[in-house]
Amino acid sequence: MDLSLRVKAAQESVTLTVNDKINELSKSGKHIYNLTAGQLPFKPASEFIKVISGQLNFLKSYQYSPIGGFPALQSKFINYVEKKRDIDLKNSETEFDCIISNGSKHTLYNILGALLNPGDEVILLTPYWVSYPEMIKFWGGVPKIVKSNAFDAFTPHIEEIKKVISSKTKAIIINSPNNPAGIHYSDDWMKEFAEFLKDYPDLIVVSDELYSEISYFDPAPTYFYQHDPTLLKQTVIVDGISKSFACTGLRIGFCIADKELTDAISKLQSQTTSGPNSLIQKSLIEFDFNLLENFFDPVKIQLRECAQVVRESFREANLAHCWYQTTSGFYYFVEFSRMPVFEKYKSREESKDESHDWSEEIVRDILDETGVALVPGAAFGYPNSARMSMTIEIAPFQEAMNKLIKYLANKS
Ligand code: PMP
Repeated sequence: MDLSLRVKAAQESVTLTVNDKINELSKSGKHIYNLTAGQLPFKPASEFIKVISGQLNFLKSYQYSPIGGFPALQSKFINYVEKKRDIDLKNSETEFDCIISNGSKHTLYNILGALLNPGDEVILLTPYWVSYPEMIKFWGGVPKIVKSNAFDAFTPHIEEIKKVISSKTKAIIINSPNNPAGIHYSDDWMKEFAEFLKDYPDLIVVSDELYSEISYFDPAPTYFYQHDPTLLKQTVIVDGISKSFACTGLRIGFCIADKELTDAISKLQSQTTSGPNSLIQKSLIEFDFNLLENFFDPVKIQLRECAQVVRESFREANLAHCWYQTTSGFYYFVEFSRMPVFEKYKSREESKDESHDWSEEIVRDILDETGVALVPGAAFGYPNSARMSMTIEIAPFQEAMNKLIKYLANKS
């Protein structure tokens, strides 16, 4: 079949190949420590489940919602973001609106579709969430990459961002807390970023804040527009219920932006998916968001414990210099090229090509040798690396770390 060039050029999700391998090994009886998950192994708050049950008997729960979502939920999300980020969106010269979509992945896809013309450039900061470059390319845009490194806790320098700005730059996507690095950019970085943006009033900032509720070490995440609310005019705030309500499968995401942009997104959504799931929207309208205030406390305790295990494991293997402190989100990002085991791969023929990436092969070897499953990091824009989830219970996580570090610390 003659499929579209656009689809042919798109990359498959990296997790698929890893999952195939995990299934194959599990079937053969091998014990697998699955550290690939991008979600919590918990049901959402019981009060929310009750509210959903209560909405099952209403006809409206089964009928189309307005294209951009129910107005009552749009307002509720605007109030939620105003309260959580301590900003005022209503008394501003800019008219802001909210569009609700089928998950924030859909939200991001819509935003890029509404913004990009072929050849427009979008700046991404490494390591970035895997879908950004694919979405940008799908709409004819060009990703421009700014690198970071583990020494700076994966926080890129603002000077480096300046270097990639051109007359074609349309937008920049920032993701703090970050998937896959498990850090959020510091308040000083956000302040500097706000200063930088003053020179680029036409640059749209897509701020993916999906993990903003999941920070387990103070200080909590802050955002550039809190330092200068006039920057909200050029900002698209992206959020959703996948992570902060532990509801990845219910598929609700949203964005808040200047109405000119949300109207364009609404037009796009009207000709593609129509409004999102009515039952869940109606449940969210009825649900008291304040009940989530302490929902993440046990999750944060577990994440803190796992982060501590990571630190101790690196220290005990004399690899403290390779370690960095995670603070938020669910992940730790492992940079193989700084580990003793990398010597083994570096000495191989393929390494003569400096651009050769070992992420997939090392992840496969780790899975075969230790049973620890990771997600290869190259798709996050960072060569020779992997993403590790900290969402499994502490005892198996400790076992997995012991095995992983033993592998990484071994040169031969
Ligand atoms: N942004 C980031 C950074 C993510 O990690 C994810 C999902 N893992 C998404 C967006 C999309 O989330 P969803 O579509 O489930 O809302």
